Amino acid sequence: MGRLQPTFDGETVIVTGSASGIGRAVARRFGDAGASVLVADIDEEPKDGDVPTAETIRDDGGTAEFVRTDVTDRSALTDLLEAAREYGGVDVMVNNAGLFVGGSVLDLTPEEFERIHAVNAKGIYFGVQAAANDMLDRDDPGVIVNTASISSNLAQFDQVQYDSTKGAVRMITRGSALELAEHGIRVNAVAPGQIATEFIEGWTEEATEKAASDDLVKPVPLGRAGTPQDVASAYLYLASENADYVTGELLHVDGGWQAF
Ligand code: NAD
Repeated sequence: MGRLQPTFDGETVIVTGSASGIGRAVARRFGDAGASVLVADIDEEPKDGDVPTAETIRDDGGTAEFVRTDVTDRSALTDLLEAAREYGGVDVMVNNAGLFVGGSVLDLTPEEFERIHAVNAKGIYFGVQAAANDMLDRDDPGVIVNTASISSNLAQFDQVQYDSTKGAVRMITRGSALELAEHGIRVNAVAPGQIATEFIEGWTEEATEKAASDDLVKPVPLGRAGTPQDVASAYLYLASENADYVTGELLHVDGGWQAF
């Protein structure tokens, strides 16, 4: 099998929610590919207590900076784009920060509803908006990649509120792709399936066990949970010239779950 190895030398990439999990793997992959990476997160420390992402990228010989950012705060996103100008301005914006709130549609509180939508939907929307405006102000169109989910299309029990945010990400991606195409800005999303991260406490183990035991609403055809590394290449592909004619697309990286 061949191997695509996109290079991002001299380019500036922002990845939100990149202290841990999928975002961390994506940030590191862009760092390895030569980009200057802005690691944007509310926390600098990864959930597993490992070395912070920006530091790891620098240790590996790359260029990276941590910028503390709460994606629910629109002005923080504008400041983040401003910080990217120190590196020549953003070329690739990855809107990935997200969280999970479970619970029945019968019980969810307004505070819980607002919290999950503030990060997963509002955070993505204003991330797209801030990046696109910055690209247009600099007259330098780039690429935006959002993190959707298998839940953008598939309903599961006790997670209406999560599914609704990921459904929103799907339409934010498609709608902004449509509107920004004339400006030369592409907008796509990666839709991961069951990925072993500490997204929910203990999820790394739970996702691994559930996927292997078929203890899900449907089995994962490839028979295992994904890893952040499995997902990361999809972001680089969508951000690269290889995907020049791809916009408004959700690329599922889910071991075949969506196809089932
Ligand atoms: P994770 O918890 O390991 O990483 C999420 C990161 O987002 C963390 O570093 C966290 O600090 C950060 N974050 C949370 N709120 C933030 C905020 N307000 N501002 C900035 N950063 C914030 O989880 P993950 O599994 O890597 O999830 C990353 C994305 O992938 C999320 O959007 C999630 O919905 C999506 N996703 C995950 C799975 C899965 O099975 N793990 C499946 C589909 C989609």
